[in-house]
Amino acid sequence: MFHLRFWGVRGSVPSPGSLTSRYGGNSACVEVRFRSPFGFSVPILFDLGSGARSFSLRNRTERRLLVLLSHTHLDHIQGFSFMPILDMPGAEIDIFGPKGSGLGATMSQISSPPIFPVPLDERAAKVNFHEVGDSEIPTGIADLRIMSRFIPHSDLTLGFRVEAFGRSIAYITDHQQSPDLTYIDPGVLELAHNCDLLIHDGQYDDEEFRQRPNWGHSTLAYAIEVAKSSGAKRLVIFHHDPDRSDDELDELLGDHFVKSMLLGVPLIGAWEGMELEVE
Ligand SMILES: [Zn+2]
Ligand SMILES: [Zn+2]
Repeated sequence: MFHLRFWGVRGSVPSPGSLTSRYGGNSACVEVRFRSPFGFSVPILFDLGSGARSFSLRNRTERRLLVLLSHTHLDHIQGFSFMPILDMPGAEIDIFGPKGSGLGATMSQISSPPIFPVPLDERAAKVNFHEVGDSEIPTGIADLRIMSRFIPHSDLTLGFRVEAFGRSIAYITDHQQSPDLTYIDPGVLELAHNCDLLIHDGQYDDEEFRQRPNWGHSTLAYAIEVAKSSGAKRLVIFHHDPDRSDDELDELLGDHFVKSMLLGVPLIGAWEGMELEVE
């Protein structure tokens, strides 16, 4: 039904180097392909962090792209200007992002001088920007439904749910958790309701969250709580802290794995290159 590939799993800023080489250092980008009885759909990308460049480099035959952009923080858009698809004649990209965020102006600004050498409107591809809120996103693809909801973060941010034939994926990154684990935003619960796969912000451990309670992110404990409360079947921890080494991430995930299993929502830590099926 759905095939996923993770091209960037890191939060806040890319973090290349020997200490992060196993989970990867590229910032947020996840590819989803919907496989209907008639074949694969156009690729859908969650976010355009630095991992989006890798996606586009390795998918040079693609001429159409649907992008679901959670928000315009740099770690979610910085790969955009460097995607080879922008220089392909006939290519067309539809980007859906938060209503009120100045999406088109922001994306054009980061893709034009003096930030990038070539103005966006001089690139070959046609790029269409769509601002959406608590919306249904038109896909033009029969049987494929996409829903967006505002979720709590430090700036206007969307979460998404992609659904077809009773199978669903929720993408909820950069999510400001409540201080005490007891409150979950209704939009978050709606997106993740009984989903087959929940991709969720897991930037902090409990102590880090105590030190940064208003920085817009979640702990692994909270991600597990969201998964349990929403009825999600699988949980992918995503948007890893850029300062977290691979060994530290192994330890953090290990500390929470048993609890997630006991609650019936087995977690997995996203790594660059990870592929998953939702059947
Ligand atoms: Zn982020
Ligand atoms: Zn953010």
